[in-house]
Amino acid sequence: MELKGKVALVTGAGSGIGRAAAVRLAREGAAVGVLSHTENEIVAAAREIGDAGGTAIPLTADVADAAAMERAVGELAKRFGRLDIVFANAGINGVWAPIDELTPEEWDRTINTNLRGTFLTLRYTVPHLKKAGGGSVVITASINGTRVFSNAGAIAYSTTKAGQVAMAQMAALELAKHRIRVNVVCPGRIDTAIQENTQARNVEAAKEPVEYLEGAIPLTDGKAGSSFDVAELVLFLASERSKHITGTPVWIDGGQSLLIG
Ligand code: NAP
Repeated sequence: MELKGKVALVTGAGSGIGRAAAVRLAREGAAVGVLSHTENEIVAAAREIGDAGGTAIPLTADVADAAAMERAVGELAKRFGRLDIVFANAGINGVWAPIDELTPEEWDRTINTNLRGTFLTLRYTVPHLKKAGGGSVVITASINGTRVFSNAGAIAYSTTKAGQVAMAQMAALELAKHRIRVNVVCPGRIDTAIQENTQARNVEAAKEPVEYLEGAIPLTDGKAGSSFDVAELVLFLASERSKHITGTPVWIDGGQSLLIG
């Protein structure tokens, strides 16, 4: 129970990596605000945590909506009186398409969810972390945009993931004096539902005529990682065991990005 007495916010907690991390943090004793824009999913996630003996409240908000995020974070801080841990994880793959086919609206949606959403999560949680005398922020980026640039059509997605690393490093330096650490997890292929929310359109036209070793993950003979693998890393970065680590991206990909990067 290494997080006993701590309060955590997890965005994108309705499924996949966010849900696994919310469950894991709660199992270590943290009270968790599980946030997403799909109410029935976070109600189920909060119930799962409660049934296992943990403490969680569902928070409905679109991470790109400033007013909704301010309200949700305020509700969490009011309910538990503090905030110590923030996992800014909500994200979408969005539309993958050649540059001259991607519409400005499709670009905006990915940027708004992944990048504006991460900023707003920081924007409204940092005052509470400062008030608590410190804390830990973990952001989910990706191997795309940080080590891998060969996934054709993923220009908006990869731009957001690169931007999240820069945001974390800027924030890590700015917030160090407040004893707030900011780190990034960069997953490779993880077995979640994210592909269901991906729209790939004519990506062949954006591809180099080269055979990449697609799907190859050296450590597991190609098997994707699991949300639980990422949750263990999030727990480590959220806990005091990582107290000297800040501004650091950690790749969690079984070596995938070393092969295709
Ligand atoms: P996921 O199961 O689809 O989880 C994403 C969660 O974010 C969902 O609960 C989703 O809700 C929520 N969400 C999406 N847009 C939102 C918004 N505007 N406001 C609030 N919540 C929103 O996929 P995942 O794989 O766990 O993804 C989590 C993070 O990991 C993302 O940032 C993704 O880029 C990153 N990542 C994933 C992989 C992978 O292979 N899975 C690899 C690298 C990085 P709905 O489903 O209801 O829309």
